[in-house]
Amino acid sequence: MGTKGRAIVGMDVDQLLGLLNRAFADEWLAYYQYWLGAKVAKGPMREGVFAELTQHAADELRHAGMLADRIIQLGGTPLLTPQDWYEATNCGYEIPADPYVETLLEQNIKGEQCAIEAYRQLMETTKEADPVTFNIALQILTDEVEHEEDLQALVEDIQLMKERRL
Ligand code: FE
Ligand code: FE
Ligand code: MG
Repeated sequence: MGTKGRAIVGMDVDQLLGLLNRAFADEWLAYYQYWLGAKVAKGPMREGVFAELTQHAADELRHAGMLADRIIQLGGTPLLTPQDWYEATNCGYEIPADPYVETLLEQNIKGEQCAIEAYRQLMETTKEADPVTFNIALQILTDEVEHEEDLQALVEDIQLMKERRL
């Protein structure tokens, strides 16, 4: 733990660590939802969906790493068990039980929209108090906004393909 780095945080550090761990839980659940969704996906444009979901899984895992590093920097401990992810999550986990591409994409779009709102709130909470966490939240939010658009574009393409029987 960097003592000066922690001392400059202008809010309750334990409260901030709680928020960071909630986001950390979200990222692991999002990672697994994407990773498994990519494997099981069936239907139109399966290969494009596989590539996009696999890429997003890698991004979510990278986000988990960014959050873990910040938690440790602040003297906290990233959640130690997968059971803790379910307790702490903001955005939950949508079970990819139906492998049809559009169903998976809709589930992941819902997750991204929740993530966008969660990081917007984290930025709001930290904007005066902690510019370092604010910057991490901004970087992650930028990725989540891109993810949502990527998935919505895929849904649009699948729908066009079906309408026009391409
Ligand atoms: Fe993420
Ligand atoms: Fe995402
Ligand atoms: Mg993408």
